[in-house]
Amino acid sequence: MGTQELLEAVLHSDELPTLPAVAATLLNMTSRDDTTLTDIADLVAHDVSLSAKILKVSNSAFYSFPQRIGSIRQAVFLLGTNAVRSLVLSFSFLSIKDGRKNSHFNFDAFWERSLASAVAANLILERVQGADTDEILVSGLLQNLGILILARTFPEQYDAVLRTAEEQGIDIDEAEERVFHVHHSLIGYEVAKAWGFPDILLLPILYHHEPEKYSGGDPAMAASIKAIHLSHILADIIYSGNPVTCHARFRDGAKRLFSFSNETIDDILTIFHTRVKEAGASFDLKIHNIRSVPEILQEANIKLSLINLNYDQMNKELVQAKIDLEKLTRELEEKNRILDHLANLDGLTGIYNHRYFQSALDQELNRAARNKSEMSLVIIDIDHFKRINDTYGHQAGDFVLVSFARTLKKYLRNYDTLARYGGEEFAVILPETNCEEAIIVARKLRVAVAEQTFSDKNEDYKVTASFGIANANPSLDEHFSKSIFVNQADEALYEAKSKGRNRVVVYSPKKKWFTFS
Ligand code: GH3
Ligand code: MG
Ligand code: MG
Repeated sequence: MGTQELLEAVLHSDELPTLPAVAATLLNMTSRDDTTLTDIADLVAHDVSLSAKILKVSNSAFYSFPQRIGSIRQAVFLLGTNAVRSLVLSFSFLSIKDGRKNSHFNFDAFWERSLASAVAANLILERVQGADTDEILVSGLLQNLGILILARTFPEQYDAVLRTAEEQGIDIDEAEERVFHVHHSLIGYEVAKAWGFPDILLLPILYHHEPEKYSGGDPAMAASIKAIHLSHILADIIYSGNPVTCHARFRDGAKRLFSFSNETIDDILTIFHTRVKEAGASFDLKIHNIRSVPEILQEANIKLSLINLNYDQMNKELVQAKIDLEKLTRELEEKNRILDHLANLDGLTGIYNHRYFQSALDQELNRAARNKSEMSLVIIDIDHFKRINDTYGHQAGDFVLVSFARTLKKYLRNYDTLARYGGEEFAVILPETNCEEAIIVARKLRVAVAEQTFSDKNEDYKVTASFGIANANPSLDEHFSKSIFVNQADEALYEAKSKGRNRVVVYSPKKKWFTFS
């Protein structure tokens, strides 16, 4: 079959997956100028299960947004059209599994590896100045769309590709060329074009194997194509049987295409496997037990160096290698612990971030339910904070936020959890604390803030804050949930604002508010 015939056969095949309706409509809408963010939010919100998945990812470590995203509308406005389109398409494709025909092609393994490539592309592009990472997720995921299409449309021939690669020790690309006489990048490109994909998603599919062939002058596009090219090589360090060669190719490519330093490359290699696992959890995709790149490389290099040794030498080397490997594992664990800790902190104030707050609250609520004890939550919002920014500038605002957090911390107990909830909002989790005790703590904080003057070299700043308290005894309340609890504290805070600010309000179910100055 010639290339054209093959393409026709693919495009008219019953095995060609259909694009889910939401994805098709979204592609069409985003190609028009008159589409608004609200139109897009309405379309996605209509699909309840898709919306739930998108909200889960938006609130996951993958995006690490400082504030909780509660609705699709908020997600669309915060992430933007392109990132939401990227998520919708990603979810649509991740659900494509076996076709009707029998085949030995492993779809789960294909998607695991594709997700790893998408994570890799994102990690790489994040480190390129001026690059736009909105679409990189779906481009990374779909770079090998052509393989999926070929394997579904021509399962027997694709089995022959896998057999040829295995028997002759050549890579899949080469085997594919021998069997199909066409590269999967062209097949993926043509199918995606028929589905109405925009260029920003199409061109990386077409050029991911030969980024230098892209001759358009758009630097953002060129960066995406190069990042996707490298992403596959990075994923190959983990997933191909040849980590040492792939590692050398990745290092070489990262320097040549992006002028990355050794530190940047090492940084990517160290966190890669953790990010893949996190993405697997966010996208509900099973990730096999993958190990870190440095660990894989160390082991592979040891194996290579053992090949030429005699038995005695081999034993000695093996013992030494085992010692080295254990040392490396310990170092990596330590490094990962530090990285994990950093991932829980807010970059500006140094206190815990929103992501940590959510998991700490889960833990404390579980503990309270087990111990049948009470706990309290305080949400704090600085009053008229915008005025500080407007009057003295954003830097002064930042200074006040840092000083404010420090003051709160000073007045809290060690086992209370203080976190930046978002913007100029903070949250305190008070374990084993009943309502009266929570009021005492909040009032102490309110007075401390109101009496404090925050001074930098230019100005003296004074602020006040409003406090909303909710109290819970989860074991006594069968309808209890975390989101209800947080909403109660939010409602109390709102009441404190509308009563005139600089006060403490406790949530009450009958809306008979208890206010304290
Ligand atoms: P209210 O008393 O009703 O809470 O009024 P407010 O001005 O505090 O509330 P509003 O939500 O209108 O404004 C919050 C401001 O906080 C707007 C936003 O620019 C600013 N902000 C959020 N995060 C940061 C930050 O990290 N640094 C600085 N400098 N400002 C921030
Ligand atoms: Mg405020
Ligand atoms: Mg606010």
